[in-house]
Amino acid sequence: MGGKETALALCVLVLISSVTVLVLGEGDATGETQPNPSLANGDPLFQGEGHDHSNASQHVAGSDNMELLDFNPLTTPGNAEVQVASTADGRTYAYLAGWNDMHIVDVTDPENTEVVGVFNDPNTQVLDVKYLEYNGREYIIQQNQLIDPGNADPNVGEWSEPSQVSAVLIDVTDKTNPTWIDSWYDVDHPTGPHNLYTHMIDGEWYLFIANPDYGECNDSIGEACGGVTIAHLNLDGSAARNLNGVPASGLGHTIVKVGEYEVAWSTTRGGWIYIHDMTVQTWPGEDPTDPRFGRTFVYGSYWEAGLRIGDVTDVPHPVHSPGAYTVHATLCKTGQGNPLLCRWRAPEVGQWMDFLDLDEDGQPDSGTTGNENGGRVSYIHYAEPYPEMVDLSHVGYSDEPVHLVTAAVEVLSTHVGTGIIYLIDTTDYVLEDGQFRFLPRLIRDWEIPYAEDHCYGADCEAHPNDDEWLLFSPHNLDTTHFETTESTDQSHGGGWDGRLYISHYHAGLWVVDVETLVAPTDPNDRVGTHAEATVAYYLPHGEDGTPLDSSFYDFGWVPFLWAVEHHDGITYASCISTGLYLVQLDIDEPYRLEGTL
Ligand SMILES: [Zn+2]
Repeated sequence: MGGKETALALCVLVLISSVTVLVLGEGDATGETQPNPSLANGDPLFQGEGHDHSNASQHVAGSDNMELLDFNPLTTPGNAEVQVASTADGRTYAYLAGWNDMHIVDVTDPENTEVVGVFNDPNTQVLDVKYLEYNGREYIIQQNQLIDPGNADPNVGEWSEPSQVSAVLIDVTDKTNPTWIDSWYDVDHPTGPHNLYTHMIDGEWYLFIANPDYGECNDSIGEACGGVTIAHLNLDGSAARNLNGVPASGLGHTIVKVGEYEVAWSTTRGGWIYIHDMTVQTWPGEDPTDPRFGRTFVYGSYWEAGLRIGDVTDVPHPVHSPGAYTVHATLCKTGQGNPLLCRWRAPEVGQWMDFLDLDEDGQPDSGTTGNENGGRVSYIHYAEPYPEMVDLSHVGYSDEPVHLVTAAVEVLSTHVGTGIIYLIDTTDYVLEDGQFRFLPRLIRDWEIPYAEDHCYGADCEAHPNDDEWLLFSPHNLDTTHFETTESTDQSHGGGWDGRLYISHYHAGLWVVDVETLVAPTDPNDRVGTHAEATVAYYLPHGEDGTPLDSSFYDFGWVPFLWAVEHHDGITYASCISTGLYLVQLDIDEPYRLEGTL
């Protein structure tokens, strides 16, 4: 214990001195030499005696290359996902999911943002929001999930109001008057959807809905218990509007479920399996001999079942397979998504769950293989493919174009560490009986470079606190690709840079360089590599937080970032407890749209 107390005292000392440095602005007063200038301001993961997570003034921290452009508290606290999109008339808007609303913020002038529209959705929690544009109109898809009892009881068939647990389509062409179009309630997923993704397949928009598992689900009769609902969007302009037997539009006719994707349960290790989020991408490779050429894949984050890749190319489609489309759309609608009637399934074509083996017992760490540690390395919660194939020949990695996927965990509490981000190479595949399978392999992991000095939540010996679950966990991230010149390139040359913009709850916003993860100076120095790859960090702290009226997210911490999104050189951070922050990383300035200042 003596040693631990000494370590703790040292920790507190370092904490106090780094706070002092920040307050006084004395750059290198600690006397430590930091090889990476982005870490010169020291450890921003504040905790311990005398620290108040909801006091904004105690969270003034960030690397010198980050600058706050604006903070907008919106009309109410309680925020989740953020999407940013520019319209044809040259304006840019941020859309934020909220506890019982969706905010539309005009961010065209990034230093003077303004809420221009609010879509109210009472008695529910809007956690995800996705923007799409089609045929001259703009839409937002959001989900409603009741995660707090009191509004309704989270048991099958006992929802008082299905519209509270549905996917909701809203027309936002007029930003000041967001208008509800349709909702889809799925009897097979009665707790309501948790995450959404939209993707166009051959000219038609599809909606992908991640549905949490629930106790009464029976996978032996074909229920997609940890499933992704796949629905076609029969929008104004869709080919489906001309098919016989397909109602045109309006309530119940615009979000058209056609099937599902589900993890291949037999290939998991058991444990805690849960689809949490997913992204969809049409294969960006240009090699027509690759069997994945032109096909579309869903990259699902399945907690302890890891990263799962499903092939959604052959989904019933109003142009390519109008007969199958009509059949599946009709049967799925008849049964309200019931799996006995709604039968199309996307096949699984890849998986990865080779988590880190930090206890060195020869097995990946997880709940069923030991050293679970709150899911530090195994609760895969968010995954997304890199936007395009990249050339990594300039760092000696491969002479062929490389496909990358990032996968991040969400961690409830740890005895050490904060939570891992994986960079995975998904280029290789194998053909088995004519069917291809991805062969993903890990390139590198990344964790906050100070992670080994921290723990949080109930399992943290130094600061045991039930209420601090999730404290420093990663949450969502945004992978961004930049075409570079000799003058704008920031990492290793090669004509491109890639950066991950990571929302890290109370640890704030972190930016990580992809090429450094692929080719670090000393790959055997794990923490040194994490430090080397770190480009920047920032703790948004616009105002003191007030605890939210929620059973699960009743935090008042500042910051408490749900999501960050990079758009045209600016990073947008959605803080659950305070509002929207626009942050400028200095090396992103060349990618700002001209004329927006
Ligand atoms: Zn704090």
